[in-house]
Amino acid sequence: MSSEDARVAARFAAARLWAASRAPYLAHALFSLTPVVLEPRRDGETGEPVPDPEWRAFPTDPGWRVHIDPGTALAVPVEEFGWWLLHGVGHLVRRHGDRAPAAAGPGDPVARRWNRAADAEVNDDLEAAGLDVPAGVVSPRALGLPPGRLAEEYLSEIEVLDGAQARGGRSAGDLVDCGSAADGLERSSGESGGDGLSGVERAVLEAALARDVLARAAARSDVPGGWQRWARERTRPAVDWRARLGAVLRRGAHPGAGRVDFTYRRPARRRGPQGPHGRVLLPAMAAPSPEVAVVVDTSGSVDDGVLRVLVSEAAGVLERVGGPGRRLRVICCDRRAHPVQTVRRAEEIRLVGGGGTDLREGIAAAAGLRPDLVLVLTDGDTPWPDRPPRMPVVVGLVAGPTVPDPPAWARVVPLPARP
Ligand SMILES: [Zn+2]
Repeated sequence: MSSEDARVAARFAAARLWAASRAPYLAHALFSLTPVVLEPRRDGETGEPVPDPEWRAFPTDPGWRVHIDPGTALAVPVEEFGWWLLHGVGHLVRRHGDRAPAAAGPGDPVARRWNRAADAEVNDDLEAAGLDVPAGVVSPRALGLPPGRLAEEYLSEIEVLDGAQARGGRSAGDLVDCGSAADGLERSSGESGGDGLSGVERAVLEAALARDVLARAAARSDVPGGWQRWARERTRPAVDWRARLGAVLRRGAHPGAGRVDFTYRRPARRRGPQGPHGRVLLPAMAAPSPEVAVVVDTSGSVDDGVLRVLVSEAAGVLERVGGPGRRLRVICCDRRAHPVQTVRRAEEIRLVGGGGTDLREGIAAAAGLRPDLVLVLTDGDTPWPDRPPRMPVVVGLVAGPTVPDPPAWARVVPLPARP
């Protein structure tokens, strides 16, 4: 490593540490950024790198790479470099690139307006954490707009301000380029260097980050409201699994497996009141938690957004059905069933897979654990077993339009495909 590279690397490390100290709930995210150092612009006489204003914002891309212009990195204070890293994480976890309106390309007026609207959404949380935006960078406060809104809501305000500026009004902030993480437009160059995160890795990272944020918020008061809202939204399951799985277990029988009364199969831990004919048995769902084995479809057909839904739902099952101190057995399945993982928390699930799909393998492996119920989380693009296993099977399904229905012996719980 040249001494110049070493200086840039040290600068990045210092900026990242500063950012982690100012927003400890984002430390995990900050340390997941991969730096990509760009070819610097150089001073004609000294040969020293000079800042390139186009790269002022240390742009990020959806693979969690951060693009570092050496001239900018060496010229700006560590605090400003660190501020941009926090800002980039804000774009990444809010998926501004996926939410961006269609635009002709980077630099297109639509893309530039969206970039500033997304900046406004990110920056009010940074201001709420006492991190003031660098001069000229847009924020709701600087625009005189209410905080706590989404980029989609700020967009129309920025269009109005742009129109007013064209007639001599004030500017709606400098034009900065925050990269494809903000506008969703692939760059022709500069995004190839370094290994970025895959869709699976990104989904896992976001789930872990959301839990960090909530854990920190529960213990202290220094987490801005916008981050807490994001984390709650990100972790909230779409389905009340306790109610849904409880209903299936109470109904008990399913065709082909013989009637089994799951309701009173095991005595409740809490004893019922004394009646004329002895103690009343409480339904089992009231106390001992059912054993649920979860099969997560991690095949290549499951896209990033669907996988995020599946992971949120698995977390929901763990929290609502597993009960405190409980563990959940999880089997990731693509073409084959991967080894059983016993987890206490959703972030312990290691998502492995990415190949073709055959959930028959995963369902057979889950049934082999002899749980009370098998829950399959999938996009449905798989062959199904011809015969049902001996326990009820519930399928949490994010269905695409062309997917055949799961077999009649499975109970289907539709899951919303989130943006
Ligand atoms: Zn930005």
